[in-house]
Amino acid sequence: MTKPSFFDLTISDLADELVAAGHKKFAATQLFEWVYDRKILDIESWTNVSKKCREWLSETYSFDLPKVIFHAKSYDGTRKFLVQFEDKQTVETVVIPARNRLTQCISSQVGCAIGCTFCHTGTQGLKRHLKPGEITGQFMSVSLWLRENVHEEERLTNIVYMGQGEPLHNYENVKKATINFLEQKGLGLSQRKITLSTSGLVPKIKMLHDFPPVNIAISLHSAKNDTRTELMPINKAYDLQRLFDAIKSIPLKAHRRITYEYLLIAGVNDTKSDVEALNKLLDKRESKINLIPFNEYPGSNYKKPSNDQVLWFMDQMIKKGYTCTIRATKGEDILAACGQLKTQYEKLNLWDQSVEIRKIENSDAQA
Ligand code: SAH
Ligand code: SF4
Repeated sequence: MTKPSFFDLTISDLADELVAAGHKKFAATQLFEWVYDRKILDIESWTNVSKKCREWLSETYSFDLPKVIFHAKSYDGTRKFLVQFEDKQTVETVVIPARNRLTQCISSQVGCAIGCTFCHTGTQGLKRHLKPGEITGQFMSVSLWLRENVHEEERLTNIVYMGQGEPLHNYENVKKATINFLEQKGLGLSQRKITLSTSGLVPKIKMLHDFPPVNIAISLHSAKNDTRTELMPINKAYDLQRLFDAIKSIPLKAHRRITYEYLLIAGVNDTKSDVEALNKLLDKRESKINLIPFNEYPGSNYKKPSNDQVLWFMDQMIKKGYTCTIRATKGEDILAACGQLKTQYEKLNLWDQSVEIRKIENSDAQA
């Protein structure tokens, strides 16, 4: 039987387990510092932990992390990783550099059950939820990879739950992982550096008062019920009325606002009447709008709007008094949008094609 993963434990879970096994409670802090803060996974080098405790740890837990099985770097610096878990399932995770930040986009599930019609991951259906340690494990594995392959100082600073999966559909595991991201003695990220993006799972949004207070982004994509239902089947069960009733229950700290992600798709949700609907729906003081030009992929049903149309839409929202930004398209050459790399590579079986790998190595060398 495989051992339980150390990475599935929060610091208080670990303290409980230590005490139950007859060890000192404070060892939990020391262990979190070694594993998450220093990222030293060789148990023998944990000099301030007793031999007895070290033996118990290696007998009791697995310290295996997800394996980085593929890496690609875009000309713009974005890096995409495919990581593999013990059962050979894989997810992708992307690292995006911007000014003094290095943001990791993390997956919360293998596949996704929500089935948005514009999303590559949505076409796969849900394979399974990720465990807490598989979520923080993406951060750990990529941090170690960067330390080894790029530079000691290359550190991830921000997390967005915008990879594969609907994080609130995997509420408990994502909550545990988030507690570990925030743990002072461990990874030590601040609440403001983590953003959870949801398609609008109303019953779970109502439970956010019981979730660490991270930034919340709502994938809105249309302020009209019929258009939203066409794009996101979840809108049938939880329409705009129910969604916004739930959003009102999110406890927001002073001067923090909700971000509304708005995918712009040519001819679907990018017209004057869409601007008007959005203006009616959103409160200017409590909302930030982030426009995402649709990222086309082979076989996608929709088209991306022209740059002029995207700028026009932003300009309209700004004129109406909203804070509105455009998400820059990153890593286009390495299929960096949600779910694209994984599905493409599985379909084409590119893993075996050394020509593709060479292309990626070359782009790495140029950067
Ligand atoms: N399931 C969550 C989080 C993961 S998706 C959610 O839907 O919010 C993260 C973001 O990527 C979402 O806003 C989603 O709408 C967007 N996205 C999905 N497919 C896309 C595509 N083809 N082009 C651009 N953005 C896409
Ligand atoms: Fe799932 Fe988000 Fe993709 Fe919709 S956009 S299918 S919720 S991952």
